[in-house]
Amino acid sequence: MMRLIVFLLCFMLVGNLIAVQGQDKRLGKDYAKVASQIMGTALIEGQAYEKLEYLSDNIGNRLSGSTQLNQAIEWAVNAMKADGLENVRAEAAKVPHWVRGEESAEIITPAKHKLNILGLGGTIGTTSEGITAEVIVVRNFDELDKLGEQVKGKIVLYNSPMRKDLPTGQAYGEAVRYRGNGAIRAAKYGAVAALVRSVTTVSLNTPHTGAMRYQDDTPKIPAAAVTIENAELMQRLYVKGEKIIVKLKLGAQTLPDADSANVVGEIRGSEKPEEIILVSGHLDSWDVGTGSNDDGAGCVIAMEAVRTIARLKLRPKRTIRVVLFTNEEKGLFGSFAYRDTHKQNFDKHVAAIEADSGGTRPIGFSFKGSNSAFALVQEISTLLRNLRSDNVELSSGGVGADISVLTDAGVPGLGLRNNSSHYFDVHHTDADTFEKMDRTDLALNVATMAIMLYVLADMPQALPR
Ligand SMILES: [Zn+2]
Repeated sequence: MMRLIVFLLCFMLVGNLIAVQGQDKRLGKDYAKVASQIMGTALIEGQAYEKLEYLSDNIGNRLSGSTQLNQAIEWAVNAMKADGLENVRAEAAKVPHWVRGEESAEIITPAKHKLNILGLGGTIGTTSEGITAEVIVVRNFDELDKLGEQVKGKIVLYNSPMRKDLPTGQAYGEAVRYRGNGAIRAAKYGAVAALVRSVTTVSLNTPHTGAMRYQDDTPKIPAAAVTIENAELMQRLYVKGEKIIVKLKLGAQTLPDADSANVVGEIRGSEKPEEIILVSGHLDSWDVGTGSNDDGAGCVIAMEAVRTIARLKLRPKRTIRVVLFTNEEKGLFGSFAYRDTHKQNFDKHVAAIEADSGGTRPIGFSFKGSNSAFALVQEISTLLRNLRSDNVELSSGGVGADISVLTDAGVPGLGLRNNSSHYFDVHHTDADTFEKMDRTDLALNVATMAIMLYVLADMPQALPR
């Protein structure tokens, strides 16, 4: 009996593989012509560059709760309507409203040095006189734990470099722990403020902001990012045994939650309109630079991919839905609002795609889902060979922060992958601005996204879970 079950299971598995392979071959062949049409339209008639220029220069950065974010939402609604999308709407979401205010920091002793800082997103402010205290420099949490109560009444500086010898995403993940949890860990030992080395491998004395956390059972202390140059200066002084006194002033405040919205537009499916392929970016940014890389680029790539399909009057079997999420940066409140509004039909979400790794040359996609679904995504990616964006990899981690509400619910997820070697150089800084963008690279992203999106929406069999 047992052998029969094993045999049947093997047969079903092999049968499945053959069926999948059979469709694999068809997908690459059946969609070759439409893929080249999409490629041509995206590369020749693309408007991603112009859209991103407008979003960056005419609207500017788009912090959660800001007037500019509201302007961007209105702009995106109008742009999607002009692009010929259907069911264009702004879906309400409540978002945190933190404001930076005036901020400054300087080393007072052993010598005067102005520090280039950015308060971390969500930090509390100092009093108007600021905090003047001695700085203790640690390389990591272990060093902090060894010092323990010795940091009481002092400012803790985490000088933990982002490693150059690791893949970029992994290096970021390791270094960003100090930004996220540094204030909590230092406050547990009685520190009065936390400074964090900016999470980047490259610096022209540019501070990088980003989200940080507090914990209910731990006092809230102010936290700010310093530049690599500032962190190394304090490290050198500290190693020499100098007593470092810093004066830190942060004018940050958290205001009541604000009204915001996710922007949604669709191309309704011709045969199975209830089945959805979602494509997304996040419209909010930090309050520095113009959020052109993070994530203005992802937004215009998603918008233009859908416009390209609409422009060619292609109507796939399933519905394509573009979602520009609000407030990714300060806690994913846009994606939580999407989940609250749509969770009853998450089972009809066939796939979710996110573009949130800048606008440089596309490489391919990371994928989260079953092996049988991955085999189909690999086959679709053969259509991306001419764009050199056919590198798809099965991801063990996440493929996009905003779509994690969907992938956590079992929806297959894809993250657009870009050449990210310089992504973190300007990430969350005043240098995240439009002139870093390249017209051709943006268009290649749009073509890559549009082909993947269209085939997923139109292929005979829905991507399996
Ligand atoms: Zn982002």
